[in-house]
Amino acid sequence: MIYLDAAATTPVRREVLEAMWPYLAGEFGNPSSTHSLGDRAARALAQARSTVADWLGCRASEIAFTSGGTEADNLAVKGIALGAPRGRHVVVSAIEHPAVMSSVEYLERVHGFSVTVLPVDAGGLVSPDDLADALRDDTTLVSVMLANNEIGTVQPIQSLAAVAHDRGVPFHTDAVQAAGWLPLDVGALGVDALTLSGHKLGAPKGIGVAYVRGRLPVEPVLHGGGQERGRRSGTENVAFAVGLARAVTLPPLDSASSVSDAASGVAALRDDFIARVLATVPGAVLTGDPVHRLPSVASFCFPGTSGESVLLQLEERDVVVSSGSACAAGSDDPSPVLLACGYPPAVAQTAVRFTFTHETTAADLAAAADALRASVVAVTSLGSPRP
Ligand code: PLP
Repeated sequence: MIYLDAAATTPVRREVLEAMWPYLAGEFGNPSSTHSLGDRAARALAQARSTVADWLGCRASEIAFTSGGTEADNLAVKGIALGAPRGRHVVVSAIEHPAVMSSVEYLERVHGFSVTVLPVDAGGLVSPDDLADALRDDTTLVSVMLANNEIGTVQPIQSLAAVAHDRGVPFHTDAVQAAGWLPLDVGALGVDALTLSGHKLGAPKGIGVAYVRGRLPVEPVLHGGGQERGRRSGTENVAFAVGLARAVTLPPLDSASSVSDAASGVAALRDDFIARVLATVPGAVLTGDPVHRLPSVASFCFPGTSGESVLLQLEERDVVVSSGSACAAGSDDPSPVLLACGYPPAVAQTAVRFTFTHETTAADLAAAADALRASVVAVTSLGSPRP
C-alpha cells in the first residue's frame, strides 16, 4: 500500500512508543499524587513540557497539554476570547479547520460575539490588508491557520500577526499541519497562541498542545481539578505527553535546520509529482497556492469526476489518499475551503488530496501518479460523475 494521507494521521514512531511505555505500566502514577510514584510521573510530565517549550521557543509555563488539536483550538480560541475580552468581535479566515470555525460559531451563538470571516484568494491566501480593514476597537482575537489541511496553503503569518498587534489584538495560529514541515518558533512567527496535534507528528492520537503567551488570560474550557495551571483540568495524559515530546526530538523534527532540509527534499518530490499529474491526468486542476504551500501536500480537482469515486479507484490500485479533510470524509458536501477559494460546488466536489510523510519516495509518487491517471480515466469512462 502507498499511504499518501499523512495529513489525516501518521503512525506512532517506534521510539515514541518506547518512551511512552513505562508511563503506561510501571510508572503509572498520577502526577497530582504526593507519593513517589506520582512524583516520578510529575517529573516526566514537566520534562515533556519543557522539551515541547524548547521546541517552540517559549516557556514551559506557557504550554498546556490537551486531548488533541481540536481541544487545543477550542482552548485557544474560546479561552482567549472569553478570558479578557476587549470586546465581542473575532476575526478568522474563511478556510479554518472546523475546530476553529465551530469555536467562533459557538462564541457567536452563545456569547453574542460577532465574527468577521476573511476572504481568501484563489490559492487560499489571506491578505494582510483585508485583515487590517476587518479589525475594530472591540476585536478581541484573530485566528488564522499557519497551513491549510486540505490545500496546503501556507499563510504569511508574521505579516498577519504584525497587523493584529498594531491594533493590540492577540493572534492565534493553528499549526497542526505545519508542524514537522515548517520551523515553529513562536517568537519568530510573532504569535500569541499556537496549537499542535501529536498524531500528525508520529505521536499518538489524543494528545495536543496549546501554547498561550504568558500574560494572556485564558478562560478554561474544561473545569475541574485545576491541572495545567488551571487552563485544562483533567488528570494529565503523562504517557502521551512524553510521547509527543519524544517525537519532536527525533530527526528530522529535532532542529529547525533539519526540518528545513527534510522539507526541501520533500518539496522537490511534490513539485515533480504535481508536474507529472498536470501533464498526464486529463483535466487535472491544482488547488492551493502554487508557491506558498506545504512541502507535503499536493491537492487537485478533477472536474467531471467525483472525488470519492477517484479515491475508491485509487484504493483498488493500492494508493490510499483522501478526498479532502479527514473530518469531512464521507460527506457529500463540497469542501468549504474550495468554495472559499472560488471553485464552483460541482468542481469542489471532485477534490483529491495527496499528503506525504517524511518517508515518501519518488518511486511511491511515480506509482501514485500512474494510478491516478488510470483512476481518473476509469471514473470518466464509467460516466458516473457522482458516487
Ligand atoms: N487543525 C487542523 C488544521 C487539522 O488538520 C486537524 C486535524 O486534522 C485539527 C486541527 C484537529 O486535530 P485533532 O485530530 O488532534 O483533534
